[in-house]
Amino acid sequence: MEKLKNFIDGKYVEPIAGNYIDNYEPATGKVYCLIPNSDAQDVEMAVQAAEKAFPIWSAMSTEERSAVMVRISEGIERRMDEFVAAESRDNGKPLTLAAHVDIPRAVSNFHFFATAIIHFASESHYMEGVGVNYTMRKPLGIVGCISPWNLPLYLFSWKIAPALASGNCVVAKPSEITPYTAYLLGQVCKEAGMPDGVLNILHGEGGSVGDAIVKHPKVKAISFTGGTKTGEYIARTAAPMFKKLSLELGGKNPNIIFADCDFDDMLSTTLRSSFANQGQICLCGSRIFVERPIYEKFKKAFVEKVENTVVSYPTDKHAKLGAVVSKPHMEKVMSYVELAKEEGGTVLTGGHRVIMEGEYSEGYYLRPTVIEGLAYDCRTNQEEIFGPVVTITPFDTEEEVLMMANSTQYGLSSTLWTNDLKRAHRMADKIHAGIVWINSWLVRDLRTPFGGVKASGVGREGGWEALRFFTEPKNVFIKY
Ligand code: NAD
Repeated sequence: MEKLKNFIDGKYVEPIAGNYIDNYEPATGKVYCLIPNSDAQDVEMAVQAAEKAFPIWSAMSTEERSAVMVRISEGIERRMDEFVAAESRDNGKPLTLAAHVDIPRAVSNFHFFATAIIHFASESHYMEGVGVNYTMRKPLGIVGCISPWNLPLYLFSWKIAPALASGNCVVAKPSEITPYTAYLLGQVCKEAGMPDGVLNILHGEGGSVGDAIVKHPKVKAISFTGGTKTGEYIARTAAPMFKKLSLELGGKNPNIIFADCDFDDMLSTTLRSSFANQGQICLCGSRIFVERPIYEKFKKAFVEKVENTVVSYPTDKHAKLGAVVSKPHMEKVMSYVELAKEEGGTVLTGGHRVIMEGEYSEGYYLRPTVIEGLAYDCRTNQEEIFGPVVTITPFDTEEEVLMMANSTQYGLSSTLWTNDLKRAHRMADKIHAGIVWINSWLVRDLRTPFGGVKASGVGREGGWEALRFFTEPKNVFIKY
């Protein structure tokens, strides 16, 4: 069976302690490769490599660094089919989704930050008759990037690219559930001429290798995307060491639909915002609130669309949903369907596993699920499920829906459907979320700040926000 390796100091190496863990293919439920379960010794080796590389990488001109990163972007693009197949196999997502979203976005992430850094300027503040301040922005040194399994290379590169572009060396860890595309990335970096030790990719569990990255005293900042509980632990661990922290955490996003919306546009987008990537996108709108005059119309049309949605193995080009990422995750999602029933909810469609034929019979397939009749403050409507499960709830007034939308501990994104301009602005202003999409969903401009409020995180990624996070400002004042 294939054994993946760590990528340290420009070479693929085995984990020092020789420990490996199984990597499952969600489509079949079978183990298909082994991945290193690295630990503090491997992290030490990666930090030493990064320390050696930092003076070289940070001293290169911005244009030289940018050129290396453009070549990485092009390298992924050249191997598009290989990356797409690997992402789909590792995660269970439809091949078409990996081909249209995940891997093209990883290409864009590298390209975007390769070019953004050329335009990144620092500030100067003139003091009339006194002097002038200018602010330099220096790379931090060695930074840690830790990412989740739902959009593996997409989110991995979203952190690594700005970290590298601004001159840092990186010790990175993809999710142990979806390590494969990060494993392939090492080869692309090598081919692109990235100096050895600039990017080190370690595999393994959060509690071993992730924790060791967070605790290493020479790692100056942690950029983390994952669950709120893990984020809380990382914050607690890193804070006494005064590390910079960027935390992108969970969500329980509202999708608010007013009666005056463009119904057909709303309906097809709501199908995507509910179930894209098997509902495993932190931005999915899992709580759908519908204004009462169109509640019954929406319910009928939505349930019909959901029932016509094809769940199939990832390489089936008709698949709209593939497999969810793992057996424990499938069981967690199913346990929430049971909880919803106990809490008085009615399952309008879905709510069960799909057993496929042949080699896919043990894969982790779930029917997309719609539940109604739940109180806004019950656990099903408050806790993150992160699967193909949405609830629908009617509302009567703006005040009522805002209260329900803002009632969770989370505040990542929100979606609003209305043609009333004043209401759109009013609601956007009052929703507790870092991102508001009006009459749309998941339209991303990489220059915009990305992140959430409350338990959805700390800090923002994207554009200048990311480049500022990965640099330290130093102000210099010169007296006239
Ligand atoms: P997770 O928190 O279990 O794991 C995320 C990463 O952290 C993995 O690489 C894991 O190995 C590592 N990790 C776990 N314990 C660690 C520790 N003690 N120290 C250091 N690293 C550790 O999350 P997950 O299940 O992989 O991902 C799903 C979660 O991610 C959901 O809550 C989802 O909302 C969230 N998410 C958020 C965003 C966002 O942008 N806000 C994007 C995608 C996913």
